[in-house]
Amino acid sequence: MTELIEAPQALKQISHWIGGRTVPGESGRSGAVYNPATGQQTGVVDFATVEEVDRAVRTAREAFPAWRAVSLAKRAEIFFRIRELVHERREEVARILTAEHGKVLSDAIGEVTRGLEVIEFCCGIPTLLKSEYSEQASTGIDVYSIRQPLGAVAGITPFNFPAMVPMWMWAPALACGNTFVLKPSEKDPSASLWTAELLQEAGVPDGVFNVVMGDKVAVDAVLAHPDLAAVSFVGSTPIARYVYETATSTGKRCQALGGAKNHMIVLPDADIDMAADAAVSAAYGSAGERCMAISQVVAVGDVAEPLIDAIKERIPKVKVGDGMDPTSEMGPLVTAEHRDKVASYVEGAPNEGAKVLVDGRDGAPDGGFFLNPSLIDDVKPGMRAYDDEIFGPVLGVTRVATYEEAVRLVNDNPYGNGTAIFTRDGGVARQFQFDVQAGMVGINVPIPVPVAYYSFGGWKSSLFGDRHIYGPEGIDFYTRGKVVTSRWPDPATSKVDLGFPQTR
Ligand code: NAD
Repeated sequence: MTELIEAPQALKQISHWIGGRTVPGESGRSGAVYNPATGQQTGVVDFATVEEVDRAVRTAREAFPAWRAVSLAKRAEIFFRIRELVHERREEVARILTAEHGKVLSDAIGEVTRGLEVIEFCCGIPTLLKSEYSEQASTGIDVYSIRQPLGAVAGITPFNFPAMVPMWMWAPALACGNTFVLKPSEKDPSASLWTAELLQEAGVPDGVFNVVMGDKVAVDAVLAHPDLAAVSFVGSTPIARYVYETATSTGKRCQALGGAKNHMIVLPDADIDMAADAAVSAAYGSAGERCMAISQVVAVGDVAEPLIDAIKERIPKVKVGDGMDPTSEMGPLVTAEHRDKVASYVEGAPNEGAKVLVDGRDGAPDGGFFLNPSLIDDVKPGMRAYDDEIFGPVLGVTRVATYEEAVRLVNDNPYGNGTAIFTRDGGVARQFQFDVQAGMVGINVPIPVPVAYYSFGGWKSSLFGDRHIYGPEGIDFYTRGKVVTSRWPDPATSKVDLGFPQTR
């Protein structure tokens, strides 16, 4: 019998998108893209040179005058078309996300749907850019404000939301009349090319949206480029800090969103089943690779034992497997290195005095970059498992005696992205919202990602810059104000007057 040997699949070449077409990389440098569920390399992504970044920025710069002159009515029409196309093809892009990131397909569709909300918000751009007008501010003088786009702007994005986080940036940027250069994560870059083709089909003129693939070389070229007016960044805290400091030192406006360590406080009066369902969903969804994942449960008083029992009971039921399998609930981690780093926190926990209650290294599926959910008890500040953002399916539990101690833990943490409290007591929940130092707060909601007509962003080391991303602050970030003082005098009344202009 002849044995059928499958031919190795050709690697997909993933290149830049500049001026409305694919542009093959010229640097000779590239990175590997994997299917995390199989561990196989599936693609090669080009890494841009400084010159290639410059070409993309020049293209965006040249496209700016015509794009900013497009009427608000026309821009809104294009955004409605973008909305329809993304909605129709959300499963197509979700498959690309699952194939390169590893998250399960339903979660990938959820990512696209949340990004779509930002696009829908931007369909209202004529209303969002309405300004103020003061008639007769002085005799015969009217004063009004307008908001104008900045120019060519850039976005640098992380691996964990390869479609949604770029939408947080390019959608408001383009709607406001800016042109855009995206530098996506080199780990899962294909969704950005899918986006580029879709925007072209929706009627976005060539050159308005460009993509450069790459690593630190491309990021540094973006940060240094004199023709970029602003940079939005989402990623880990050390890089966010670096991006913010470098971009602002070259005169750019910058919003740089960083990492997180999100605590979920559970009070003794909480509904245990509801809190356990929320903790398991928010800790292990997307294999914990969410900046709004719950990584630390803070159990107050005697809630610890029943809560831990309820979480332990749920963990074995989480189905870990290939994200393309519709029965899978949790996929693999993004790379082998990241999986090994996450596993090292579980391995090291007992040496630091914590107790591993569920070890995710046991029984993880073979082949890909899998790790099962882990649960660690008695995790405390000063331990690696507490101090670091693990960014994987590892949930720590800290036991405290009082609400005050729980809030102190959250407020003493250098991160301040999201946090949540589970309780039946409205008064305590309200006090928590008053006390807590974090940008996004959930009350019996474990992942409080704001809807698109609010803005997203953390406090402390989770955000560098003044403005949160998307929503009203996103519109503000991608525009600058101008105030016009206007008079249409009768030439017969004109005379020279060197005094300081008076309003009365
Ligand atoms: P990362 O910081 O490693 O990479 C983000 C981007 O920066 C990528 O495009 C990458 O190419 C680039 N980059 C990486 N190293 C660089 C360097 N030394 N110099 C210049 N550029 C560099 O982040 P990641 O691993 O892709 O994503 C996970 C991180 O993103 C987590 O920390 C997570 O919390 C964070 N995140 C935050 C939010 C938020 O809204 N606050 C949202 C999603 C992800």
